[in-house]
This record gives sequence, C-alpha cells and structure tokens, in this order.
Amino acid sequence: MDSREGKSLTTRNFISHAHSDHVAGFESKTVNYSTIETKEIYLARGGNVLDFKALKFGDTVYLDDIEVSAYNAGHILGSTQYKIQTPETSILYSGDINCVDTLTTKAAKASSCDVLILEATYGHPFYVFPEREDLYLDIVKWVLKQVQNKRSPVFQAYSAGKAQEIVKLLNTFTEIPVVTHPTIAKVNKVYMKYGISLDFINSKNEEGKELIRKHQCVYVIPTSRSSMQIENACWAIVTGWALKFKTATYGIKTAFPLSSHADFIQLKNYVEEASPRKVYTVHGYKEEFAKFIHEKLGINAKPLTPLHQRRLADYL
Ligand SMILES: [Zn+2]
Repeated sequence: MDSREGKSLTTRNFISHAHSDHVAGFESKTVNYSTIETKEIYLARGGNVLDFKALKFGDTVYLDDIEVSAYNAGHILGSTQYKIQTPETSILYSGDINCVDTLTTKAAKASSCDVLILEATYGHPFYVFPEREDLYLDIVKWVLKQVQNKRSPVFQAYSAGKAQEIVKLLNTFTEIPVVTHPTIAKVNKVYMKYGISLDFINSKNEEGKELIRKHQCVYVIPTSRSSMQIENACWAIVTGWALKFKTATYGIKTAFPLSSHADFIQLKNYVEEASPRKVYTVHGYKEEFAKFIHEKLGINAKPLTPLHQRRLADYL
C-alpha cells in the first residue's frame, strides 16, 4: 500500500484471518485492515464490516512513526502475519500460522524481530504432524476404500480452510464428485474467486441431494454438524488434535491429523528464524511452549494473558 496515513492517535485494527476467534475487530467503528480474502470469507460466513481497508502481502501501512507490514501466514486463504516497526523496536504478530505448503496455501515464513507474539496451539513436543503428502495419501486411500465398499465417505472439517483443502485434495487425486454443505460452499466460492480452483456441488442443490442419496460422492460438512443423519455414511474428521485423542472422542470412526496450524517443530524453527529477544505465546500450549523457548532456546519468553493485551508499551 505504501501510503502515509498522517498523524493521528486513532485506533486501527489489523485482522489476521477470518476464523471466528480473530474477527471481533471487523464490527468496530474504527478502520479495519485485512486482506480482501479475509474480509470476503468473513462476509461469506455472515459477518458485517463497517470500515475497511484492504492489504496485500508485502504492503506496509504508515501510521505516524509506526509501520505495519503484512505477510502470508499460511493458515487459510488470506491469513496474515503483521510486523510492527516503531522507532525503538519491531514486533511480529504471527496470528495463526502454518509453515508447510498445502494444496491451498503457501508456507508462512518468519521475519526477524525484537519481540514475537506467537500462537502456540500445538506448542508441545507431542504434536509433530506426519508429512502432508503422507496424510494426503492416507485420506485418499481411505476414501477409495469406502467407495469400493459402497459406503459414503463424510468429512467433518472447519468450514473455512480445512474443508477447501479436502475438496482440493479429492479434486486433485480422485474423480469422485465432492458435495459440500452450503456453509462450506459459500467459502469455496471465495477461494475460487481468488485463484484456488475447486470442483464441488452444493448439497442444497438437487444434484447434490441426489449424489448423497445414491452414495456417489464424498460429502464435506462443518465440524459443527456432527449430529447430521446420513445413511450408509462412513465418518472422518480432519484436525491436528487427532494425534492425541482417540477417535471415540468424536463419536466417529476415523480421524486424520491434518492441521492448518504449525506443529511443535514448525513453531521451534519459526522462533529460531525470527530470532527475537522476547517471545509472548498465545493459545493452546502457551505455558509449555514459553517454558521450552526460555529453557531450550535461551530466549526470554512468557505466555500472554488477556490482561496484558491492553498497551503496546507493555510488550517492549
Ligand atoms: Zn485460525
């Protein structure tokens, strides 16, 4: 963007991505910055945006003597990391990150900084995910086996991000029609608008209903719809938590640890690449990962509690 915003103390929101726990700012009356993809996914999921300015990866916003730059976070379409440069210091806010390439996103890369605010969803050494290619192969094999046995594979997936990756995976490696729940179909359209081709049928259409009835498709539904009754279905869920919890936890038969978050190794590498003097961890295993960073990487680190999220000066 490279535009001077002029001197002002007005608050601005920088929104990392369109998942529901990251979009509260969109409803506020202040200026909201995000990628256009983030805004459109948010709107597709029923959100409302009051005051908005679009950012692209590589753009910098100048606010008085502070610069805010946007970088790819690799988590879902449009997901963004923000680097804040002040005259005294630099702060990198990761948002939710994923540091490997997927069929729908590019790996996030760390940027060097003084202070790092890092998600730690899977910041425990237990969470090391299999290679993505191996997971893709496992999922495709499982689908083909169900189809061969005349069962209907049904995937439960987060409606923004994971569901589109599953559709893309099945489009890429099989010729089986993919039917998606309308909630997912709306987000699919945003992905398609921004360059990710997806071949799917909306389950609310007659064609979709017919394919489900005849067990001639893979059906992808949101995780929130686990109570749906689908005849002859064979269920699977895709989530990083699948590494730990038995599939019985989900009341279904199969779980694949396909995640849109960085695993423990990715997080460790990310911290080393950013090379900060101070790290604040948020979400998930924030206590454990802060302890690891402090003890094993020799970097000052602590988990961030909500009370600390009030003043920029508290972090410096
Ligand atoms: Zn997220």
